[in-house]
Amino acid sequence: MSREMNLTGESENGLRALKSVDEIYIFLQASEQKDYIGEPVSQLEHALQCADLAVQAKATPPLVLAALLHDIGHLCHLPDAPMMEDVGVLYHEDIGAEFLREKGFSAEVVSLVRGHIEAKRYLVYKNPHYLAKMSEASLKTLEFQGGAMGEEEAQKFERDPLFKSKLCLRQWDEMGKIKNKIVPGLNEYREMMLEHFYQRS
Ligand code: FE
Repeated sequence: MSREMNLTGESENGLRALKSVDEIYIFLQASEQKDYIGEPVSQLEHALQCADLAVQAKATPPLVLAALLHDIGHLCHLPDAPMMEDVGVLYHEDIGAEFLREKGFSAEVVSLVRGHIEAKRYLVYKNPHYLAKMSEASLKTLEFQGGAMGEEEAQKFERDPLFKSKLCLRQWDEMGKIKNKIVPGLNEYREMMLEHFYQRS
């Protein structure tokens, strides 16, 4: 029996999970029409490429889901959310993380999503060559995101139990911008998302 059938036949939590997954899918499906801030792919293509890179790297399901959903804050925000000029929603990592927490995702997924900007700021601090490789849009958003981490902040980040996963996610975030790349579609992740909720209910 699929996880979907299992959940519908079960508790209120199960029905809540199905509702959350449907709601997230509506945002993701609509993001096919949205550009990924100055890059040659749509928001949906970016999300799917990031998730696929995580799968190819044999990442755990929470990390795959975080890769798929890391930019949901660009999609689920309120209409009056402050913007980083023409490069997206300010604090989209926090908006996305809170949204996912409310929907019932685990603390791990929430932290990974929140951490994808921290990871960028850490890498700029740690590696002088990193800045030179960043896209124009990413450089522009960095200014709004507080620039490079300081030493103390970077050391604290290194002690984060999800430190390595957050760096991996950041790497896929940078790589998931290839025009017309063929990757599995959204349906590929529905069962994984339901399973994530199922394990928590
Ligand atoms: Fe991204």
